[in-house]
Amino acid sequence: MKKFFVSILWIMLSVATYGQFDSLFYHHTLRIDYENVGNSDTSFFALKDVKIEPFWGGSQIHLLDTFGYGNYFFKVFDSVSGNLIFSRGYSTLFAEWRVTKEAKRGMRSFAESVVMPLPRRAARIEFYRRSKGVFVPFYTYYYSPTDYFVGKDQYDKYPVFEALSSGDPARKVDIVLLPEGYTEEEMGKFIDDCMFFTKEFFTYEPYASLKNKFNIHAVLAPSAESGVDIPKDSIFRNTLLDMSFDTFGTDRYLMTPDFRKVRDIAANAPYDQIYIIVNTNKYGGGAIYNYYNTCISGNLKASKVFIHEFGHGFAGLGDEYGYGDDMKDLYSKNEEPWEPNLTSLVHFEQKWKAMVDKNTPVPTPATAKYKDKVGAFEGGGYVKKGIYRPQQECLMRSFKGRKFCAVCRDAIRKMILFYAGE
Ligand SMILES: [Zn+2]
Repeated sequence: MKKFFVSILWIMLSVATYGQFDSLFYHHTLRIDYENVGNSDTSFFALKDVKIEPFWGGSQIHLLDTFGYGNYFFKVFDSVSGNLIFSRGYSTLFAEWRVTKEAKRGMRSFAESVVMPLPRRAARIEFYRRSKGVFVPFYTYYYSPTDYFVGKDQYDKYPVFEALSSGDPARKVDIVLLPEGYTEEEMGKFIDDCMFFTKEFFTYEPYASLKNKFNIHAVLAPSAESGVDIPKDSIFRNTLLDMSFDTFGTDRYLMTPDFRKVRDIAANAPYDQIYIIVNTNKYGGGAIYNYYNTCISGNLKASKVFIHEFGHGFAGLGDEYGYGDDMKDLYSKNEEPWEPNLTSLVHFEQKWKAMVDKNTPVPTPATAKYKDKVGAFEGGGYVKKGIYRPQQECLMRSFKGRKFCAVCRDAIRKMILFYAGE
């Protein structure tokens, strides 16, 4: 038993110091690219490529994921000790597509990719997907440092503009901004847009009071043509990241199916989060947890889109609005959603119940009496019934105000401190 506790203590210490990071990892990224192929019923994982990238921008202190968010999860085990040395949760575009009508009719494949610090020794990397609320294993990759098929330096090099520098990437949240649909002549406009979003971002809490925890890098990578695809208007452009409006038939949903190309451009800087700025005035955006964020450059609502989408991509926040359309099956009413700001009330105690005043009823009526109270207000996760949100208004629900609800602010703050190694 004593030995058991000693080994637990060793694991805790092993992820608590820089020295231990250096004994387990190099300061580079190991990237695993794969295809996620399937339909609404079934899916397959097919390995595509394994690469080493020059930077590791993530924490060297918090190596194990303590949040458990996302539809997917991976764990890295050291082959010598057998210890778990790194883990992260994430979601994917494929996971969203699987609940669309199209996924009931046929198969599609999506290019996906995960990154981790480069292990010094051989490692076993286990992939999990969420099924009925729990992560189940579905693929294992064995990494060997002597595998000569693991590629190095396979990406196009571009200059990097520093929009905000606060210090060592290992102790900061590093956001890399990527340009989509900016030509060589428009790189100056991209820099101006980056500075606009950097300024706006830190006018919202909790980012404003934690500004010194962030670095923001911008990769100056031009597109052949200006603008972006709008398939419903028969507009198609030859651009760097192949972004498109009308994703899954939704006008404003602005995404790319080629995540590997996104990673290739992001590899020019150390990063924790990827943010793609799209050169257009048309309203739109999108984000997926620990995957990538997208925002339009020139719309009046652009800064609120930027803040809202980063809530998804960075802190795993769910949408707090409900309308009841194709996405009504995204959340089961019989289990807790993994997003920290949504509840089905099945296990409300695992969510923000402790933040609810004892005089506030649950569910909470959306009346003037509870206007600024934390409770459980019905409507969220794209449905009007059965999913509840923490407060009546929040930037994850609408753009009426400039504030996140108390639960979202808390979730964002915790994620900032996790990446900053505190
Ligand atoms: Zn909220």
